[in-house]
Amino acid sequence: MPELPEVETMVRGLRPALEGRTIRSLEVVDDHLLANCEAPALELKARGALVSAVHRRGKWVVIELAPPRGIIVIQPRMTGAFYLVDSELARHIRLTLSMSGPGPYPKVHYNDPRRLGRIAWYAGPEEAEAAFSKSHGPDALVITADDLAARLARTARPIKPTLLDQKVLAGIGNIYADEVLHRSGIHPERPSHAIDRPAVGRMHRAIGEVLAEAIEAEGSSFDAGYRTVLGLEGGFLAVNHVYARGGEPCKTCETPIVRARIAGLIGRSTHYCPACQPPAGITPTPESPTLRRRPPRSARDPGPGGG
Ligand SMILES: [Zn+2]
Repeated sequence: MPELPEVETMVRGLRPALEGRTIRSLEVVDDHLLANCEAPALELKARGALVSAVHRRGKWVVIELAPPRGIIVIQPRMTGAFYLVDSELARHIRLTLSMSGPGPYPKVHYNDPRRLGRIAWYAGPEEAEAAFSKSHGPDALVITADDLAARLARTARPIKPTLLDQKVLAGIGNIYADEVLHRSGIHPERPSHAIDRPAVGRMHRAIGEVLAEAIEAEGSSFDAGYRTVLGLEGGFLAVNHVYARGGEPCKTCETPIVRARIAGLIGRSTHYCPACQPPAGITPTPESPTLRRRPPRSARDPGPGGG
C-alpha cells in the first residue's frame, strides 16, 4: 500500500503533467470514491481550471487549482495509483484528467482496483488543512524529535502500531515502520512511553533517513501493487533491511530476521532482528550489534557498471 515515499514519488511524477497546465476536462469514472462531492460538481470545478500546485500531505495527493476552483485531494490508500502512460496494470481507472495544450502527457489517470481510495474536494487550503488536521498528526518528514517524544509519551501501546497511527504522525505504514525500528535498534513491541529520549532521537533520525532513501528509490513495489506514474517498479525493497526478509541474515549482524505477528496489528506482519532490536528491558551495550553495525548498504553504492 502506498506510504509516504510512494505518494511523494507519485506527486513528483505528476508535477510535469499537471503544474502550470490547464485541465480541459475531469471525468469521474466511478463516483463510489467521491467522499464529499458529486461528480457533476467536481467536473465543473475542474473544467478549464489552472493547476497551480501539486503536493503531498501525509499519504494525500493534493492538487491545488487556481482560486476559486478549490483543491482536489486523492488518497490512494490500499491500491490507488496514478498513470501518465498506458500500463497493463491500469485496468481500473476511476478518474481521468485531460489536459489542455501541448505537453508530453495529455491524460492523467487515477487507477484503483479495490476502490478503497478516496477523492475529495475542498474550497481552499484552509479547508483542506482543517480536514487533514482532524485525522492526522504532523507529516513524518516535518515532525520534530521533541514533538515525536511528547506524542509517544502519551501512549503505552507498542511502538509499531503507534508509528502506523496517522493521528500520531502521518505517512508511515508497515514497510517503513519495520525499517525505522530496525535502524534505530528498537523492538517493535516496546511500549511507546517507555522509549527513552535518546532512543526517540535515534528513531526520529531514522525516520528521516529511511524515508529519504525510499523516495530516492521511488518507493517499494511487490506483486501487482504500487507503480510509479510511468508504470515502473520502485526499487527500495532491493536495498531495505528487514521488511519481507524473514529468515534472511540481518545485514548488520547476520542474525536471522524474524517475521512475526504482534499485538495491536491485525493482518500485518512485523519484521525485526532479535539481536539488533532487543526486547524491552534489555539495553544495548557498546558490544551489542546495534552499536557496532556496518554502514547500511545503499542504492547509491556503485555496483558493477553502475555509478
Ligand atoms: Zn541484526
